[in-house]
Amino acid sequence: MMLAPTPVRTQTTRRTKIICTIGPASENPGCIRELLREGMNVARINFSHCKYDEALNRVKMLREARAELDMPLAIMLDTKGPEVRMFGYNKPVLLNKGDSLYIESTDKQPDDIPQLPPEDKRFFTNLPRINKLCQIGSRVLLQDGFIEAEVVQLHAEWPGAVTVRVLNDGKLKDKAHLAIPGADYPIPFMSDKDRKDIAFAVENDFEYIALSFVRTSKDIADVKELIKSVRPDSPIRLIAKIEDKQALANIYDIIKDSDGIMIARGDLGIEVPIEELPGLQKNIIKRCYLAGKPVIVATQMLESMTDKPYPTRAEVTDTANAVVELTSAVMLSGETANGSHPARVVNMMGRIIDRTEASIDYRTLARITHDYVDRDNITNIMAYSTVDTGHDWNARAIAVVTANGIGARALSKFRPSIPIYAFAHDEALYHQLALNWGVVPFLIENPEGQRFSEVAKKTMDLLKNKGAISNGDKLVFMASSPFGKGRPTNTIRCEVVGDNAFHDET
Ligand code: PEP
Repeated sequence: MMLAPTPVRTQTTRRTKIICTIGPASENPGCIRELLREGMNVARINFSHCKYDEALNRVKMLREARAELDMPLAIMLDTKGPEVRMFGYNKPVLLNKGDSLYIESTDKQPDDIPQLPPEDKRFFTNLPRINKLCQIGSRVLLQDGFIEAEVVQLHAEWPGAVTVRVLNDGKLKDKAHLAIPGADYPIPFMSDKDRKDIAFAVENDFEYIALSFVRTSKDIADVKELIKSVRPDSPIRLIAKIEDKQALANIYDIIKDSDGIMIARGDLGIEVPIEELPGLQKNIIKRCYLAGKPVIVATQMLESMTDKPYPTRAEVTDTANAVVELTSAVMLSGETANGSHPARVVNMMGRIIDRTEASIDYRTLARITHDYVDRDNITNIMAYSTVDTGHDWNARAIAVVTANGIGARALSKFRPSIPIYAFAHDEALYHQLALNWGVVPFLIENPEGQRFSEVAKKTMDLLKNKGAISNGDKLVFMASSPFGKGRPTNTIRCEVVGDNAFHDET
């Protein structure tokens, strides 16, 4: 069935952003354009399943599409991270309840691990000394948590092994994921592959890197160090994926030291009891937006649409709930990477977001954020006042001229009911701001040396040309003037759109 294209204008009014994972189903120019028109704000490339030539091809297509449609689009590399996997079989193995599996630690590379007959039920894992991480009775989850097993025997002799009893039938696919919920896995945060992938993202000007299995602030510091060694002035921003108990224990520091958070519900739902996910999600979203950091809710948001034309009622409610909780973005994974109709899924996600946002009283919510103004930060203080003024004055929008994104992100923190039109002259920043809640980025020439009134008038004209505002609309401007001097925010100015705006200043 053909869907009527959604007008591009929805991108200028939708507050909650949409991240699409690009994969075999979507890596063609036509599909990428459709995803953009339907509301994709960030394109994610998952390096658990992507080679460099494939990634470069995707990046090229994404850059061509965003240039052609004149739309901001951030490109995000998602690292593989320290994954724990099972090896030693080269075709799927059917497991039955009651089967005993012998799982042995190995430090061999996957290609050097012997392939054993499936009936042996003998496997290897890259987790060192697995026997030391479990006790008799410990739960072991295989195949992304779909197969549960319990440890029945520990084998201490080098290199260490366990025997587990399978608790439900299931199929073990190639290199199945293995988890021991709650264990601190003794494998480094960054593998050689991760290091190469991070360098690749920096060298190829990705806008974001999503770091899998960040556990401490030190992990983020190590990545920053690596980035500095590749390109000291790289503007790339780091999203920490929260996927286990250690990350939860360090969540305040991780929020503080990263540029944003992804609630990676897939792995997190294996590492903590699954029923804890809703509370954790709500909590992390709140902590992030009150800290002024973007936050992403990821995984299985519209999963059933991977092959079906409609989502389940529960998925619709899940997506709407994330919007109500004020997440910055919702993420699609397999739905757009491998699904039957990627653009249709984005269209559905956009419809759910739009309908849900229309029911939220953002003005009242913004007032609550007053307690979270950072009193040591004048940009934060003025951003709150700008939002408050916009609400009280019934302004049509806020306009911010932002050299490094600080002003635009500060405005986003207070979740205004009106759009934040952000004018950036740096192209990386222009695309990066596509992730931030409520921010609609525009690319302008460098305003350095120009008068405030001159730049504000130009931004007003640009918005008029785009149809975002019209004569009679009220606009609240926020900026740091004079431009290009590195001063913190110092200006809030209210104007009514019309031929007379700024007429007394030349
Ligand atoms: C997740 O676990 O939810 C997630 C987003 O990470 P991955 O890249 O492993 O899908």
